[in-house]
Amino acid sequence: MFDRVLIANRGEIACRVTRTVHRMDGEVVAVYSDPDEHAPHVRAADATFRLPGCSAEETYLNIERLLDVARKANVDAIHPGYGFLSENPDFARAVRDANLTFVGPSADVIEAMGMKRRAKNLMEEAGVPVVPDERGENQDAEHLATRAEELGFPVLIKAVAGGGGKGMRKVDRPDRFHDELEACRREAKKAFGDGRVLIEKYITEPRHVEVQVFGDRHGNAAHLFERDCSIQRRYQKIIEEAPAPGLSDSLRQQLGETALRAVDKLDYTNAGTMEFILDASSDTAEDAYYFMEMNTRLQVEHPVTEMVTGEDLVEWQLRVAAGEPLPRDTRDLSVNGHAVEARLYAEDPAAGFQPRTGPIERFVHPEETGQVRLDAGVDERTEVTVHYDPLLAKLVVHGADREEALRRMERVLTQTALIGVTTNMELLLNVIRHDAFGRGSVRTDFIDRHRGALIPDDYGTARRVDVLFAAVYELSGCGDRELGDAGWTDPWSTKHHWRMNSKRTTSLALRSGERVFELDATCYGRTYEFGIEEEQIEVLFQEWSADQMVLSIDGHRRDAVIVEGNNRRVTVAHDGRAVAVGTHRPALEADEPEGEQDVRSTMPGTIIDVLVEHGERVDRKQPVLVMEAMKMELTVQAERTGTVDEVYVQAGDRVKEGDVLVSIV
Ligand code: ADP
Ligand code: ADP
Ligand code: MG
Repeated sequence: MFDRVLIANRGEIACRVTRTVHRMDGEVVAVYSDPDEHAPHVRAADATFRLPGCSAEETYLNIERLLDVARKANVDAIHPGYGFLSENPDFARAVRDANLTFVGPSADVIEAMGMKRRAKNLMEEAGVPVVPDERGENQDAEHLATRAEELGFPVLIKAVAGGGGKGMRKVDRPDRFHDELEACRREAKKAFGDGRVLIEKYITEPRHVEVQVFGDRHGNAAHLFERDCSIQRRYQKIIEEAPAPGLSDSLRQQLGETALRAVDKLDYTNAGTMEFILDASSDTAEDAYYFMEMNTRLQVEHPVTEMVTGEDLVEWQLRVAAGEPLPRDTRDLSVNGHAVEARLYAEDPAAGFQPRTGPIERFVHPEETGQVRLDAGVDERTEVTVHYDPLLAKLVVHGADREEALRRMERVLTQTALIGVTTNMELLLNVIRHDAFGRGSVRTDFIDRHRGALIPDDYGTARRVDVLFAAVYELSGCGDRELGDAGWTDPWSTKHHWRMNSKRTTSLALRSGERVFELDATCYGRTYEFGIEEEQIEVLFQEWSADQMVLSIDGHRRDAVIVEGNNRRVTVAHDGRAVAVGTHRPALEADEPEGEQDVRSTMPGTIIDVLVEHGERVDRKQPVLVMEAMKMELTVQAERTGTVDEVYVQAGDRVKEGDVLVSIV
């Protein structure tokens, strides 16, 4: 086995691979870019090497530098993780040319499967059903439009070299085809340096089900069953589970056998994933299934497979790369219980899932157990930057059955709080709690279809319960310096004027965002009686330690993390939300504008299109321009209603984080 392994990656996957290398008594060599100097993956390693710079191109994508580190650090093998260079055939080749082991399949297979067109050709030859499509060399727009008509709308335009959902465009009507084709080509060229596309028939009622496969150098092949990854946004997964709910045994078996046929056809070695799309609308008794693509690496969602099989897939990868046979055959494996993974991203679901940046001030999460696993790449020293993927952590749970796993996931999510950067945690909770998800009715359009319930209009804003936390914090004096520091504080000992047994009633007005909450509060010792929005609510103040508060609200235990900012404004993190609550000061606020005048860029990028001009009336939330940042197209909105006073940019301009783009008066 390898003595020293270089992990050519960052974040949670670098931490994940480190765990297994250490368990197998190997040493880990980590690399880090400038912003990652203090990242958890660096602190976990045995030796570390700096990759000067910030951008992915200068650092984690820099093949020459990585090989240089490998030589200096005298490693035996390089694990590429996922993303970055994991599916780059030139990297796999360069590693082997340097007489090092690449933990992954052969460069030729990576190359073949990296192009969706070639991959589909090969799979067709192996007798694997593929989605009906146009994947010829002819890229003429008129030709493609005609072929789209023949396939029948809706169609999906995909980048031939695509990955990570980038560039993909669903087109419902012929008259939208040319614009969407243009947008897809533009994004594909940016992200992959290759603007070629293929047109697929859009499968209605699609489900994403994939099979984990493995091959070794001795001709053995195994699969480790399937995962359902249908809960997606931007064609990217956010919740995954194993096994896939509601599949018949015969379909499950067929998917496994089909996947193994592909492994044989390709002489595949190491870990891979065969992604299938299931067509639940087909009128055959069984869902029809088609090959979509193969990922020639470890997948983000591999932990759910580990949870139900009890196998360590990174260990399998290292053993196979070292020339050992597969640890087990499919016949010796079985699925035990049910596992679910939720991906915590720094992004705002209410703003079109735009990535968010900022410092992580607090990250509170439950302890790991046999049933609860946390794969995190961040901690309270991390600043989330624009340079890399916004995946922060993955929460993974196991249960005896799906119901138990979902209940556990709900609990784990409610016990997790992240303050400082906007995350998708509230959306994750809303999905887990949704009836249709509970019934296992999962389709890739789940989030769109149930948008009203999952991302309601008041998404991300304070609820009554959040305000009650802020009120107890204020009234009990938790924020007073001499209290909070010494760990757990008996609410009786607070030095607040309310401590005495006498009964007093007071009124307070708290504000969160645009909402003002008027409260009456009567306190008897630790018990508060609140009058809020015509209702009486009894709250028992149970615990305050460090920055965690436990209340019993009308008899239900609720936990929150509370962090104080300026002017006694507090951030309350509860039930997936993190909301700022402060005292309402009408006199001060009367003069405040109803939203920022300047529309600023939240990250570096390039302006693609300006949608407004000088003198035009705009509404709050109206799109004012489109920019390209982090290899995605983002729509930027007005933050207030008014008139466009000045447009500072035009299409093609490069902008920095914080630049003023448009001003509205
Ligand atoms: P998967 O099918 O495993 O989700 P994708 O093809 O969607 O794989 O892309 C890989 C995933 O890995 C993305 O979902 C993204 O969140 C994450 N990812 C991609 N690139 C990086 C990176 N450079 N660093 C961290 N995470 C990444
Ligand atoms: P990527 O390489 O970006 O991961 P995939 O081909 O794997 O691209 O597709 C990503 C997602 O897009 C799938 O998980 C599925 O939700 C959706 N998708 C892909 N092809 C189709 C199709 N033909 N019809 C409907 N949805 C599709
Ligand atoms: Mg995919």
